Formats: sequence, C-alpha cells, structure tokens
Amino acid sequence: MINHIAVIGGGTMGRGIAYTAALAGFEVTLQDISEEAIVRAREYIKTQLNKSVKKGYVQSKQRDEAMKNLSYTTGLQEAVVKSDLVIEAVLEIMELKINIFKQMDELAPAHAILATNTSTMSPTEIAASTKRPDQCVAMHFFNPVHRMKLIEVIRGLDTSDDTVRVVKQLAEKMGKETVEVNEFPGFVTSRMNCLIGNEAMNMLMEGVASAEDIDKALKLGLNHPMGPLELADLVGLDSRLRNMEYLYHQLGEKYRPSPILVKYVKAGRLGRKSGRGFYEYTTN
Ligand code: NAD
Repeated sequence: MINHIAVIGGGTMGRGIAYTAALAGFEVTLQDISEEAIVRAREYIKTQLNKSVKKGYVQSKQRDEAMKNLSYTTGLQEAVVKSDLVIEAVLEIMELKINIFKQMDELAPAHAILATNTSTMSPTEIAASTKRPDQCVAMHFFNPVHRMKLIEVIRGLDTSDDTVRVVKQLAEKMGKETVEVNEFPGFVTSRMNCLIGNEAMNMLMEGVASAEDIDKALKLGLNHPMGPLELADLVGLDSRLRNMEYLYHQLGEKYRPSPILVKYVKAGRLGRKSGRGFYEYTTN
C-alpha cells in the first residue's frame, strides 16, 4: 500500500509528478540537489494549485490539503527514508540514474518500489545496480503531468507482476491511464515522438516551411493537439537532445539528432525553460 512517495529531481517533470501525487492525496517529499530548483518547484506548484482553484478544477480545501501533503528537501536520505515508492526524475543520463538508484536502494525501506521516469532508457540497466530489481520499474509520465492522461509502465527484465500491479493502481488513483510496454529503447511514445520532432527540425533547417507553418500543418492537417516544434520547446531542447542521442546510439541512423537541435542547445536556447527555443517566451 502506497502512502508516502518521494520524487527525486524537482525540474520540469519532478515538480509536476509531486504536484499531481499530492493532489491525489499521497504524502509527497520532493528532493533536488539544487536549492534553487526546490524554490522554483515550490513556487510552480503553488501557482498551479491557485490557478486550478480559480478555474474551478480544484476546490480550495483540496488545494490546502495538497499543500499540507508536500514537503521539500535537498537530502536524499530524508526524502526516501519512509517512502513506499520513489520516483526518480533527474536528467536523462544513465550514469546519474544508476548512481541514484544505488543510493536509493541503500536508503529506502526494503518494501519500497523504485521507479524511474526515464523517457528512453533501459529500466533493466538502471535496476541492475540495486538488490531489488523485481521492485524496479519505469513509470513514464508526460508533460505537463497534471494535464496528460497517460503513464507508460515499462517492465525491466526482473520487474515482478506485483510491482506492475501496484504502480498501475497508483496511476489510477492519480487519475491516469496506463499502457504496459516491454522494454525497448524509447518505449512506444518517445520512439515515435522523437522521430516526428526530429523530422520537423530537419524541415525547418532545410527551409521547407517556417516553424509556425510546420506546427500549424501538423495541428490542422494531421490533427496533432500541439505542433512538434512547440512540443519540443515544452519538453526542453536539452532533454530532447539527450533522448535523441540515446536513441541514436541504441537504434541507429534514423535517430541522428537534427543539427539545428544540437546548435540550439549549444547556444543555450533550451525552449520554454530558458525563454527561447524555436519560439520566444515571456513566461515559462
Ligand atoms: P529537468 O532538467 O527539468 O530537471 C532535472 C532536475 O534534476 C533538475 O532540477 C536537477 O537539479 C535535478 N538533479 C540533477 N541531479 C540530481 C541529483 N543527483 N539528485 C537530485 N536531483 C538532481 O529535467 P526533466 O525534463 O524534468 O527530465 C527529468 C526526467 O524525466 C528525464 O529522465 C527525462 O527524460 C524525463 N522526461 C521528461 C519529459 C519532459 O517533457 N521534459 C517528459 C517525460 C519524461
């Protein structure tokens, strides 16, 4: 039974997962190594909750309870010591994830499930650093977490049926639908989405159409709710580049990152989070 959830990494995804879990009634501790990230995450969650109350999606009593359910820390031990589930949402770097899973395995209670929010990587490889690979799984949330309905549940080689059952139940309590995916780089969604986004970037680079018209074409012509370039800006171009690099190494040539993506990341144009990507933003 899940009562307490620790979320590791308070960036774009971690703060969204923490917010959604706290609103669903779970006790949540959000951890990040950066004080600044914690301050930003706390502010984001407060703003989102207040916005949702104003729009009538959330009652003020629910908002107050969600705020009470949340705590923040920079200490990993403090975050996971009484957790039933830990969801890791740090950068998409394999060595970093492996290192954090090793530590979480030592610090979290023996019964705790350890989940990764990786977009592309092998939950088997991440779990292999722990003594509980049967209790490790990938839960791939989507951005923005409180609005997106899906969680992809990815089994590693040793993930037990019980672990899958518990995380599916949890997803349901968070108001989400799940699909179960066998491990393969990029799962279902990232494998598809990265390819579409990369093709859009190549088209932009080749001068096929403007960013606005590429996005408009996919929205109005192919019924995509968002254009691939605005979606990449929302994801973060640095995160998207890491996904592409991993998929390129695992799956080959068709995932070679578009040169324009590489160039934008080098220039510090990271999308919404830095105020500029394929578009310019005044707020993130
Ligand atoms: P982000 O860059 O916005 O945030 C990452 C956070 O991790 C930062 O706040 C950073 O300070 C923190 N961090 C780094 N090292 C840490 C450590 N050792 N301990 C604790 N915190 C640490 O990244 P993001 O976009 O939220 O992505 C996080 C994960 O979620 C990645 O695996 C990514 O592939 C996946 N993901 C991202 C999206 C998206 O749309 N951005 C969607 C689905 C999944």
